[in-house]
Parts: sequence; C-alpha cells; structure tokens
Amino acid sequence: MHSQLTPARAARARGAFADSVRHYLAVIEEAPPPEILAEAAEVIGRFRPRGAEALARRALEARPHLPEASHALAEALARQGRHPEATPLFRDAVARSGRLAELKDAGTPDEAPPWTHRYADVDCPACGAAGSTPVHVGNASRVQRCFGVVDPVKLWVRCDGCGLTRVANPPPDDRLPAWYEAAYDRSPDTHNPPAPGPGLYGELLKHESQVLELLERAPASRGGRLLEIGCSFGLFLAVARYHGFDCVGLELARAAADWGRSTFGLDVRHGSCPADLPEGPFDVIVGFEVIEHFSRPDAILALLAERLRPGGVLVLSTPCLDHPYHLAAGYDDPMWSVPGHLVYFDRATLRASLARAGLREVHRAFSDRHLGSVVVLSSHA
Ligand SMILES: [Zn+2]
Repeated sequence: MHSQLTPARAARARGAFADSVRHYLAVIEEAPPPEILAEAAEVIGRFRPRGAEALARRALEARPHLPEASHALAEALARQGRHPEATPLFRDAVARSGRLAELKDAGTPDEAPPWTHRYADVDCPACGAAGSTPVHVGNASRVQRCFGVVDPVKLWVRCDGCGLTRVANPPPDDRLPAWYEAAYDRSPDTHNPPAPGPGLYGELLKHESQVLELLERAPASRGGRLLEIGCSFGLFLAVARYHGFDCVGLELARAAADWGRSTFGLDVRHGSCPADLPEGPFDVIVGFEVIEHFSRPDAILALLAERLRPGGVLVLSTPCLDHPYHLAAGYDDPMWSVPGHLVYFDRATLRASLARAGLREVHRAFSDRHLGSVVVLSSHA
C-alpha cells in the first residue's frame, strides 16, 4: 500500500521537494489515512498552497484537530498570505502536538500557555507609525527548542511607515532580560562553553579574521578600547585582546560571563543592555547577533553611538531579510528564532536606523559565522 510513500519521504529528506511532490501526488490517489494526507499537504504546499489547503482540510474532516493537519493547513494558508486564519491553527497544532507540555516542562517563569500573554500591539519602534501589515506567520516550535515565555507561533508585521519588520506583539521591555537570561541558561549552546577541539579552534579563527578585517578597515582603532555587547563566552574578546585591544564585555548569560572571566581573565560584566552598559568612550563597539534581540533597536543604537569615540567604529552582525540565503532558504530556521529575535532588518531599514543614530554604514559583508547574516561596519556620519 502507498508504494510511493517511501520514495516521497526519501526525496523530501534530501530536500528534493519537486520529486517528493510527484510521489506524494501518487500517494494521495490511494486514499491514505489523515496522517499521510497531512504529510503530503505539507510538502505539496511548497508549490501548490491551494491544493495543500484542500488536502489538509480533508485530513481534518477525517480527524479533527490532528496536529500535523492543523500545521499543514496553517502553512498552506500562510503561503497564500492568509495570516489571521493561519495563526490559530498553528497554535492548535502546537497545543495538541505535545509541544505545549514540553514548553511547560522547560520550567518557564510563567505558568500559563505562552500565547495567553496577549501583549499590546506596539507602534513601530523605529518611526512610531501605528499601521503595519502581516508578512509572515510560522510555527517556530517545529524548528527550534522554544521556551514558554512567548508565543512559539511567530507573527511578523512590516511597518507601513518605514518598512521595519518586527514581531507583532513583543513582550514588554522590562520582562525581556529575565526571559533571555532564563532561556540562555537553559540552552545547551549558551550554557556550555565550547569544548576544546576543531570546533573551538574554528570559532577562534573566524573571530581572528573579523579582528584582522576590522584592523584593515579601521586602522585608527588599533590598540584602542573595545566593548562587546552580548559577548557570550568571550571568544571574540580574547582574540581582540590578543591583537592588542583593551577589551570589556557585557553578557546576560551568567554561565557564559563566568567562563569568559575565569578562562581568559577578561573583564566581562554580567548584566543587560542598556541598564549595565559600560561607560565609554570606546574606539570599537561590537555586537554579533544582538541588535535583533531588542524591541527598540533605535534606542540601543543611539546609546552605542554616544559611547563611540569620534572616528570610532560600530560593528554589528544581524540576520538580513533580503540576504540571498534567506530568499532561497526561507525563514523557518533557527536564525529567525523566537523569543530571541524581535526585529528584522533588511539593507534599507538597517541603514535608516543607523542614520537616525547619527551613524553611516562604511562596509558590509556576509557573515561567515551565521547563515544569512550580514556584518556591517559604521561610524559617525
Ligand atoms: Zn516604522
């Protein structure tokens, strides 16, 4: 029975979705059970969202609330731009798939299901415009480990005024540091220091190439004061200090901050931004994959610009919506995680936010550390 199922799954597993669809279309001719219909709908939806919608509805008629079918239907609707219809279906899929129990088991600071926190929709943190348009909805719990602090169903909106993309209703600013800290302290990646071996050495080499690139692009910063916000285990700082910088780091995850201090003897302060931001001025401020964690990035950029010495350099890396990688790979990977990432820049909106902080982009390159991120150097305009 369903002789095409094995090749359909094999093709899906190797990312050959067009082949997989061909096999699944044969499978659905054989009146499969609702689980298989839902599975087929998820793959077929990549090419034919309306067809996938019909299949998922058939599966739900046969088995109401089947999580895979709710998910497939939600994806099919989202691919048609029908975000308000998709959102409750994604939530239903999370709640009934056992992921909700997992979220609660993660020992979250909150007892209630995450999406019962209905935070107020906020005006654009960059330009203040109230109007926005939904541009993406997805079930983040399918691709990452979520902690029950915010809605694992991510809904993004694009500002009608300035085009900045953001999480529709982010948690309030005063709750963010505690949540991030709890999430980082439970995440194996941010709780455990890198193990000695080629992985650690590879990280150090990438950091070194960033430091050397910085010295080449901003030779006046050589040997100056350098601040890293969100410095994690301090690997970049250790490399920067080796090449002569006077370094200080700020890190929210206590385990990582402690390791950086005890391992490298670095000045790493455990705290959050902006509350614990060290006093400037600095010749270099770096923030790798941090600016997207702030619900008001413009306010943070303004503070960083203030702490930059005249002629100093701000180095940021951040996921970039119009990066060719994401145009090909989509947005359902951990780079677009919740709850971590609250705003999403593209080339234009990052330039605009930098400009409002009095900064001018002077160099841009794809990150060699994070898929689909860019590294942008800027200095006072
Ligand atoms: Zn705006």
